[in-house]
Amino acid sequence: MSNPFSNAMRQLDKAADIINLDKNIHEILKSPDRVVSISIPVKMDNGDIKVFAGFRSQYNNTLGVYKGGIRYHHGVTIDEVKALSFWMAIKCAVVNIPMGGAKGGVIVSPKELSEGEIERLSRGYIQKIWRLIGSDKDVPAPDVYTTPQIMALMRDEYEKLVGHTDPGVITGKPIENGGSEGRSFSTAQGGVYCVDELAKKMNWVSENTTIAIQGYGNAGSHMARILHGLGYKIVAISDSKGGVYNEDGIDPAKAEQIKKSGGRLGCYCVGTVCDIVDISTDGPCRAISNDEILELDVDILIPAALENVITIENADKIKAKTIVELANGPTTPEADEILNKNGVVIVPDVLANAGGVTVSYFEWDQNVKGEHWTEMEVLNKLEKIMKNAFDDVWSIKEKYNIDMRTSAFVSAVERIAKKIKI
Ligand code: GLU
Repeated sequence: MSNPFSNAMRQLDKAADIINLDKNIHEILKSPDRVVSISIPVKMDNGDIKVFAGFRSQYNNTLGVYKGGIRYHHGVTIDEVKALSFWMAIKCAVVNIPMGGAKGGVIVSPKELSEGEIERLSRGYIQKIWRLIGSDKDVPAPDVYTTPQIMALMRDEYEKLVGHTDPGVITGKPIENGGSEGRSFSTAQGGVYCVDELAKKMNWVSENTTIAIQGYGNAGSHMARILHGLGYKIVAISDSKGGVYNEDGIDPAKAEQIKKSGGRLGCYCVGTVCDIVDISTDGPCRAISNDEILELDVDILIPAALENVITIENADKIKAKTIVELANGPTTPEADEILNKNGVVIVPDVLANAGGVTVSYFEWDQNVKGEHWTEMEVLNKLEKIMKNAFDDVWSIKEKYNIDMRTSAFVSAVERIAKKIKI
């Protein structure tokens, strides 16, 4: 399995080379400012204590307070969290918001825990890191398998510990808890703006543009819904249990129906999109695997789950003309090279999924100013930021004749480097 942190550093080196980055600044950007490892003892429902390992990596705060989600996943590693915190710093700089980069993670299979166990784990995580966070220091948010409800619990635990309210300590909260309008679907919405801009560059109209989405969590499911609403043809979707393909197009409302049933804590669903095959009456619907979905001949492939799914093993088999990376780190550097050689245009994660952190920034801004913006205000601001970032990245790509990932890194590293004092 390729190491996400070494992958991230190779991306940094590539951008540094192009702009002849000052070697001292390059050196600084190679390490996180701080990484903490914690043990979280949790009383399980049967009375036993189980200890979970967790991390928080604060990578860089040159542009603003550390910012980044917390993920609950059995595959979390310290190197993954470090890489993700670096990508957060790059991502915030790509969209030009005044935030730095951080990330947290806990090694856990959350679907195997009860609601009470998840609550005790989430409070336990904050008990171990509360001194490091705050609206003026480091602002966590949701990531893989963490939900708005979990953010509300974490805010509550933090405020109990510090003894005062601080709604901006965490973002991605439920609206009634200080959350922002639009945050729940903002990662997808930002990705949709990128799809629209990309379609314009390729001269594609939505009705004829075929799309496959791998991953049906918060990002993937909203992406399918919004793109379908705009007339794009979603021909395949998948989740951790497998996928479904229909050349005539899939209505995401069907998946919604299945996945909603029995969900816990706002996102741990019991259904799977594979069940669409059984209930579908329209057209040639068939089951496909998570590997097959990546190799479909579509206009746009959207990996929306985890990192390292497009690798040296399958990169040559990718038939999609373009890729919009809604997941963080789905493509390894080796795969990236192959795809670039094959002429596949990739809108990289640090741009394509930056809508989430952008609306998190809006949420934090509203919290510290005591304001509440309408959904329309939020989406207008988001659209402007995403389109400007897309344009910046596209023009740097043209200027240096490089791929979009490298140009996004160039754009971000230039912004951060300008502000680092050495
Ligand atoms: N977890 C999301 C990401 O990877 C959002 C982070 C945030 O809102 O701070 O971009």
